[in-house]
Amino acid sequence: MTTVARRGVCLVISAPSGAGKSTIANALRAGDSSLVHSVSVTTRAPRPGEKEGVHYYFRSLEEFRAMAENGELLEWAEVFGRGYGTPRAPVEAALASGRDMVFDIDWQGHRLLRDALPDDVVSLFVLPPSMKELDRRLRSRASDDAAEIDKRMGAALAEISHWSEFDHVIINEELDRAVREAQAILVAARLRTRRQHGLAALMKEYEAH
Ligand code: GDP
Ligand code: ADP
Ligand code: 5GP
Repeated sequence: MTTVARRGVCLVISAPSGAGKSTIANALRAGDSSLVHSVSVTTRAPRPGEKEGVHYYFRSLEEFRAMAENGELLEWAEVFGRGYGTPRAPVEAALASGRDMVFDIDWQGHRLLRDALPDDVVSLFVLPPSMKELDRRLRSRASDDAAEIDKRMGAALAEISHWSEFDHVIINEELDRAVREAQAILVAARLRTRRQHGLAALMKEYEAH
């Protein structure tokens, strides 16, 4: 197969909590083992089943502040009263080696990442089919207590208000369809002409014919 060297894509997925961005990101990775998940640092407590270094790096607020102050975070933001941030080193390593990364970050993180990596970010906002369904999904996930769910539902409309800052928007009603749409966005981003740094060799082959 002819493969052409290119820069990695940074696929940013944002949504109000419970809309399904983790589910969609997991499905993308399940269908494409070359996709790297950006593991964020957070000051919130692990949920049942969440593993250090897999879902998040769980850190104290003091450790988080030290990372931010030392420039170890590419972006960070306060979300639901906690610190969340993207470690810089894995992103730089992945992009340099042409691997694609998926980021599950909020709208503030999207703005900061887009400013930091303007040529590499393609972004996707996931909307729930309705507020009633968002509430149902947050409760059925059973990962947060009632007060945390109320806080997240209370913040949902403010998060949703940023939808038009994103390159693409998906309504996650039927999961299979939403995953197919996200895959199409990733494929199209990979094929952007400006990303193809390795076409010179193929052009030489054409000319030599
Ligand atoms: P300070 O009390 O004047 O130092 O200001 P802040 O408490 O607002 O934050 C200072 C530093 O805390 C920032 O540079 C961040 O690196 C860091 N920080 C990390 N997590 C959080 C968070 O959840 N909230 C806030 N406010 N700051 C955070
Ligand atoms: P987020 O990462 O955006 O907070 P999750 O991916 O954890 O959201 O999804 C929230 C809950 O909704 C999970 O229990 C998930 O299984 C469920 N869910 C996700 N997408 C759909 C969908 N299309 N239809 C029904 N339930 C869904
Ligand atoms: P959760 O606690 O449900 O895992 O995540 C809460 C919110 O924090 C979500 O909106 C998620 O996208 C956001 N988030 C997770 N990691 C990061 C990060 O590294 N940076 C920023 N800015 N937001 C993040």
